[in-house]
Amino acid sequence: MIGKIMDIARSQFRANAALSAAAAEKAQQVLAGGVNSPVRAFAAVGGVPRFIERAQGSLLTDVDGNEYIDYVSSWGPMILGHADERVVGAISKALRNGWSYGAPTELETRLAEQIVTDFPSIELVRLVNSGTEAAMSAIRLARGFTGRDMVVKCAGCYHGHVDALLVSAGSGLTTFGKPSSAGVPEAMTSMTLVAPFNDLSATKEIFTEHGEQIAAFIVEPVAGNMGCVPPQDGYLAGLRELCDRYGALLIFDEVITGYRIGIGGAQQLYNVEPDLTCLGKIIGGGMPVGAYGGRGLIMEQLSPLGPVYQAGTLSGNPLAMAAGVATLGALHEPGVYARLERVSSHFADGIASAARTANIEICQTRTGSMIGTFFQAGPVVDYASAMNSDTRAYACFFHAMLERGVYLAPSQFETTFISLAHTEKQIDKTIAAAEEAFAEVVAENK
Ligand SMILES: *Cc1c(COP(=O)(O)O)cnc(C)c1O
Repeated sequence: MIGKIMDIARSQFRANAALSAAAAEKAQQVLAGGVNSPVRAFAAVGGVPRFIERAQGSLLTDVDGNEYIDYVSSWGPMILGHADERVVGAISKALRNGWSYGAPTELETRLAEQIVTDFPSIELVRLVNSGTEAAMSAIRLARGFTGRDMVVKCAGCYHGHVDALLVSAGSGLTTFGKPSSAGVPEAMTSMTLVAPFNDLSATKEIFTEHGEQIAAFIVEPVAGNMGCVPPQDGYLAGLRELCDRYGALLIFDEVITGYRIGIGGAQQLYNVEPDLTCLGKIIGGGMPVGAYGGRGLIMEQLSPLGPVYQAGTLSGNPLAMAAGVATLGALHEPGVYARLERVSSHFADGIASAARTANIEICQTRTGSMIGTFFQAGPVVDYASAMNSDTRAYACFFHAMLERGVYLAPSQFETTFISLAHTEKQIDKTIAAAEEAFAEVVAENK
């Protein structure tokens, strides 16, 4: 009987996604995989990716007219919620003046001034068009500055689709990584070493063996691309010490964490200063953007001042600058991060208690408005432990939530992002949905 009801619910639900299904089929005719970024295709959870028609505040509306409370937030940028009036106003104003000149504008200076003010470790900034570009360029700069070639990254951290960083750990710790994507020649990853996140002693070993050749250690200070995995006590400070001892640069990829976990990002929260910082996502308020910056001494190596080349036709374009300046301005209003913290802890507590009620073991992680819900007992401290999660249970949970009007990330290994547009009422609605969804996971597993 229950099974039959579920089947009916499912078929009705499929009917609710009929226009998305048609849109997906049409998209697949002309776009590789029907999407322009793989995770959007729902491959990890199955089912029909929802095609979005519009968004307002914390709500997404798909082409079938379904409304969802959005916890993806465009993978982080939409911290104010969608179509925030202040940002709409700023973009509209910029739009009327034309939107690309290939010549400098004062808007670029304003965004850079804001970043320099908020990040004491940054004296000079270079604006680019994506987080990928920021990480790629920061690495080139670190190599140019130090005159060294090797780079260390952490397993499970993502820095965009940069050739040299698409690596998985080799067989031994101090051996070089293997390309994790087809199309990346081994030569491109032959100067990249892979360390486990949160593991200082393994990192020490790498530095002991290769320290004199390492240009940079790049890390997400709070990992957000294997689910949310916060740094353990002393980890970031330990990285700082190792880099100093061996003359390597420490690069914090704060593309997610910058302005997400506070105005000054993870470096302020954990009180550890990197040499270079990568930014993106929030600093463009949802427009394509990236940035990297650091001390003048390092940044002055960049062309046109120095020998490290990097350029961009649309870099610093007025629409992204206007959206970024307006977004960062809104984030400087008093009480903003306290509110975000309150709503985020309400969400996290509610989800944890719903899981307990259903007798489902989850490992919850959280840094501010970044939240991880791993379907396993935990602890999750790195990539290997994150991988112990029950991805089937997550897929079931995801679809049960989607049916109830809650749009979570379509993968176990992504972070939940709370925005300032989420209301306490919407969080309560989400928690109520989670109670039912966890129960559905239990039923499915029987
Ligand atoms: C999203 C992300 C990137 C890549 O940014 P894109 O704008 O997608 O190129 C880089 N680093 C981190 C930590 C990210 O989360």
